[in-house]
Amino acid sequence: NEIPVRENITLKVVVVGNSSVGKTSILYRYTQGGIFHTEIDSTIGIDYRERSLKLQNKTFQLQIWDTAGQERFKTITRSYYRNSDGIIVVYDVSSRDSFIKVREWVESVTESAPENVVMLLIGNKIDLTNKRCVTLEEGQDLAKKLGIKFIETSAKTGVNIEMGFEFLVKTINNQK
Ligand code: GDP
Ligand code: MG
Repeated sequence: NEIPVRENITLKVVVVGNSSVGKTSILYRYTQGGIFHTEIDSTIGIDYRERSLKLQNKTFQLQIWDTAGQERFKTITRSYYRNSDGIIVVYDVSSRDSFIKVREWVESVTESAPENVVMLLIGNKIDLTNKRCVTLEEGQDLAKKLGIKFIETSAKTGVNIEMGFEFLVKTINNQK
């Protein structure tokens, strides 16, 4: 009788984007079982969270890195991206400025991250329907231009958070 062996794969995922777009909220939602925090302390440093995910008969151990305030000062070091398998770039659909900055974030990632890194663009806060100023189509078009994956989420309602990470992990796994 053979015991089925699950492959165990550790993946490093890094989350970037302007301050207050919801990076930490997305990670809380994904790693802390759906808790939404309205006040998150952004002390300077880097925060780290873990979650495991079973997909395609493999167990993925996700190590997710979050900037804690560094994005305000654009002092994110190259070493932050080192050995990363996936990068999530987040903007806020109610902030035009955060959307405009996406290109710069992608460029700085491209300079510092491994060549085969998988990038996912997330437009967050889609629950704010009345405040939305970046359309779904604009997000899709930008992602297409930059050659990266795209999804819209809400850390508040939880919509597409699970799916976003699953999508990222599947893409990483398929190109390995
Ligand atoms: P970070 O600076 O990118 O880590 O952003 P935070 O996660 O600290 O979130 C900044 C603010 O936006 C906080 O007040 C959050 O509660 C709020 N926020 C984050 N995600 C969402 C969302 O999906 N919808 C709404 N309405 N608010 C959000
Ligand atoms: Mg944060």
